[in-house]
Amino acid sequence: MNPSRPGAGWIEVIAGPMFSGKSEELIRLLRRSLIARQRVQVFKPRLDNRYSEGDVVSHSQMRIPCELVERSDEVLPRLDPRTEVVGIDEAQFFDDALPALCGHLANLGKRVIVAGLDMDYRGVPFGPMPVLLAVAERVQKISAICSRCGAPAAYTQRLVASDELVVVGAAGAYEARCRRCHEPEGAPPASEPWLFPPPGGGGGGSP
Ligand code: ADP
Ligand code: ZN
Repeated sequence: MNPSRPGAGWIEVIAGPMFSGKSEELIRLLRRSLIARQRVQVFKPRLDNRYSEGDVVSHSQMRIPCELVERSDEVLPRLDPRTEVVGIDEAQFFDDALPALCGHLANLGKRVIVAGLDMDYRGVPFGPMPVLLAVAERVQKISAICSRCGAPAAYTQRLVASDELVVVGAAGAYEARCRRCHEPEGAPPASEPWLFPPPGGGGGGSP
């Protein structure tokens, strides 16, 4: 429990497409915590090595040091009991145990700030993010600017062909797109046929 503010833990999530400013917002909030002299620890999954290891880096080159972990169960053993704020970046790449870990940290009295892609390039909810969005006390869903038309963009468009769900580090492989300009590839996953309704809203739903 946080000795200075017992029971004050909670989860907040920053979600949106690539280029929406999730990392910038996470870094902004964590810097404010540091200015308030709170103890901060930041974690992100090791697979993202786009930039220097050991930093959360935004596309606008803001950065803050972080610890790299393979799995969410590596966070608790590394946690300093005095830590008051836990930041987690690229949450979509973590395993399904991440929401339970965040809940545990919040129950311990920590402020848990999680940033991640809410959808993959197909528009499919990404990894543990849907559950995190449901259980968080506070959610910020932020948009980017559509690269085609300038509208607010909620989707990530993949520009290169690949069999992998994730193409990390490929400069120019993705851009932000609005719903109108987003072009999902392939058929919807059988488990989630509702993701791409037919044009014209067929299916007898509300107008
Ligand atoms: P995220 O973590 O969501 O991918 P970042 O915080 O790394 O986003 O980067 C956000 C920054 O990216 C913006 O402040 C802006 O400078 C830059 N940027 C590049 N392309 C776009 C775009 N299409 N829409 C908005 N910002 C963009
Ligand atoms: Zn558009």
